[in-house]
Amino acid sequence: MTVQRPASVTDAFLETLVARVPSTSGGTWKLTEVYTGEVLVELPQSTPADIERAFVTARAAQREWAQWPLKKRLGVFKKAHALFLDNAQRTADLIQVESGKNRRMAIEESCDPPMVMSHYIKRAPSLLAPTKRGGPVPFLTTSTEIRQPKGVVGVIAPWNFPFATGMSDAITALIAGNGIVLKPDNKTALSPLFGIQMLEQAGLPQGLFQVVCGEGPDVGPTLIDNANYVMFTGSTATGRVIGERAGRNLIGACLELGGKNPMIVLDDANIDEAVQGAVFGVFGNTGQICMHIERIYLPESRYEEFRAKFVRAAEGLRVGASYDFGPEMGSLVSPDHKERVQAHVEDAVAKGATVVTGGRARPDLGPAFFEPTILEGVTKDMLAGATETFGPVVGLYRYRTVDEAIALANDTDYGLNASVWGADLDRACAIAERIQSGNVNVNDILATAFASKGTPSGGVKQSGVGARHGDQGLLKYTDVQNLAVLKKQVMGAQPGQDYDAYVKSMLSGLKMMRRTGIR
Ligand code: NAD
Repeated sequence: MTVQRPASVTDAFLETLVARVPSTSGGTWKLTEVYTGEVLVELPQSTPADIERAFVTARAAQREWAQWPLKKRLGVFKKAHALFLDNAQRTADLIQVESGKNRRMAIEESCDPPMVMSHYIKRAPSLLAPTKRGGPVPFLTTSTEIRQPKGVVGVIAPWNFPFATGMSDAITALIAGNGIVLKPDNKTALSPLFGIQMLEQAGLPQGLFQVVCGEGPDVGPTLIDNANYVMFTGSTATGRVIGERAGRNLIGACLELGGKNPMIVLDDANIDEAVQGAVFGVFGNTGQICMHIERIYLPESRYEEFRAKFVRAAEGLRVGASYDFGPEMGSLVSPDHKERVQAHVEDAVAKGATVVTGGRARPDLGPAFFEPTILEGVTKDMLAGATETFGPVVGLYRYRTVDEAIALANDTDYGLNASVWGADLDRACAIAERIQSGNVNVNDILATAFASKGTPSGGVKQSGVGARHGDQGLLKYTDVQNLAVLKKQVMGAQPGQDYDAYVKSMLSGLKMMRRTGIR
């Protein structure tokens, strides 16, 4: 491989990034450049004692941070917003070296935290302001809803969008007044470490945002046992482990998990646009987007037209290792993951599926490259038919009626994202509403839903619990305190008052309040 590591990713820069990770054991993990397989840096691995200390430090800093007026806290993110955008190229360099994705996706990923900051800079003041609700007795009682930060939030992030998932959810929790202990995936710890450096440059207090590194099962238990809330993004299998432990500890958890996302093309769809969408939906981020498409349902009448154009587009994609905008598809994240994707394709073929195009690894391009792959004849007894492949692999299916298409789309344990394409928007939206999925995009694959930061985005069924974005995306990081005031001792019978008379007046008072709509 002759690909040249980006000039910004110097050894000295990498050493300053990983120096932030606590490790008293001296143990390290070899973090490699995906395109070449060369070791970039030795990533320190944190012991349970290191993790406990990280929480102590974050907790001390959080106590002060929570006392800052919200306006002052938001000032940090106003500065950070500009810094993140000014450093987008350097961030993208790090994202690319550690994940192997192509340049376009790396740049787009670098923009997610600023979009989240921008939304909550506007929205947080009204969401976090105390809200007067009115007490049970008009004028003489008040009840105020006060939002208190949870404390220190444990954030566990995957490798597919390490910067977006490592930063954006943490930033939202910080805005609410919390501290953070983040556990990124070992493979992709660099870009989140750079994000924290930028946040501190923007004025985030030292110590408030901690990072611990290690294999999930080694770090997870201590992290969850010390956290006041857990924000997890990753596979459904791991989400179950995290949710169980959080439940035992009686702390809240938001779990953003996997998908097996369907795309339904309706008979009135613009096929050229649907094909363009499918190319991104299937091959974008080398098929490693949680909301990407693994199943495409086509009406009999448009099947051949879509298939021909889609196959031509897939075969025309420029695939390769490069730090410029040349390649339209990059590498998978690791040779191990490539083996998994290959196993799904081989299993499908062994059980009767047909490879229309692709289906092979590309060692000539790099250690973890895999061809854009389109399959036909995929059934639910195949790995690729029922479970998430998480690679550039899709199955094409025919349907006869819209009801059949919807039933097929819903025939899955997952419910993260879906995509419906059609010219008649009312009809397409009515169909979209019948799909059991936390996100549904009409005439788009995923970006419209995910980038709408004002609307909660999460999975249903086995794809998750809770959501990010929207009001609940911020409020989940707070506890509600119900601050109630009684201005005069009017509750209960007054001294000397006959209890029957008191009950009578209370019951008629309740009726009067209903009639007048006061309560
Ligand atoms: P994963 O579940 O293997 O790992 C995710 C994170 O959890 C990593 O940091 C890992 O080290 C850690 N982990 C693993 N075992 C753990 C344990 N026992 N305790 C604590 N932490 C543990 O997932 P992955 O392979 O890294 O990521 C890909 C998956 O993430 C896919 O299923 C994808 O769909 C999903 N994902 C979902 C969303 C979403 O928003 N719904 C977004 C991105 C990725």
